Amino acid sequence: MHEKSLSHDTFCSTSQIDKSGPFPYNLCGMSNVTLHVLHSRDEIAERVRWLGKQISQDYQGKFPLLVGILKGSFVFLADLIRHLDLPVQVDFVRLASYGDSMESCGKVKLTKDLELPVEGRDVLVVEDIVDTGRTLKELLEELARRGPGSLRSCCLLDKRHRREVPLDIDYVGFVVHEGFLVGYGLDWAESYRHLPDICVVEPGTQSSEKAGPDKGAGP
Ligand code: 5GP
Ligand code: MG
Repeated sequence: MHEKSLSHDTFCSTSQIDKSGPFPYNLCGMSNVTLHVLHSRDEIAERVRWLGKQISQDYQGKFPLLVGILKGSFVFLADLIRHLDLPVQVDFVRLASYGDSMESCGKVKLTKDLELPVEGRDVLVVEDIVDTGRTLKELLEELARRGPGSLRSCCLLDKRHRREVPLDIDYVGFVVHEGFLVGYGLDWAESYRHLPDICVVEPGTQSSEKAGPDKGAGP
């Protein structure tokens, strides 16, 4: 397959994105990368505010430990905690769920552990997107072994039709069906995390970069 390199201009800010048509738009009106906005920044903000309200109600009088899964969750988690009417602590883990093959290898590796103990804590795991469910399930099983007081999960995007393992997610932002998503923390080969909207990469779009661990599978 012929692959064209993405030029520097492809990584411009969204203010430079060509939005001449409603959707889809081409990034900077160039390159072979075409993105459609699936959830706009306003929709995301409203949903994150709603999630914050639910979590604040459910954890009233508690002091939860929010565990973000790096790297994808960092934008979502940063916004979410500012909608919590609670004292909270935040920690991160880093998990590699994909190999170089651009397909889930079904194995999850903990490449950065928590710095805070979870024993007795009310732990809420925060993930950007759940696909097969293997990443979140394995992390929840690992954290359960450490004896938390309670253990729940929250994801912004749920591709539940792709689930390969049973999983009950306590707080879900959006259920999504469309292809490969980027923006609002989600990457494609480490790019596009900075986009304020959640976008779907148009099928047929090519990248010269290789997907890798937590770089997400290609579209
Ligand atoms: P799972 O173990 O549930 O199959 O994989 C979850 C991880 O796969 C996510 O944390 C994310 O890194 C990656 N992933 C799955 N679907 C997408 C997607 O549409 N876009 C991006 N950027 N990453 C995805
Ligand atoms: Mg993730």
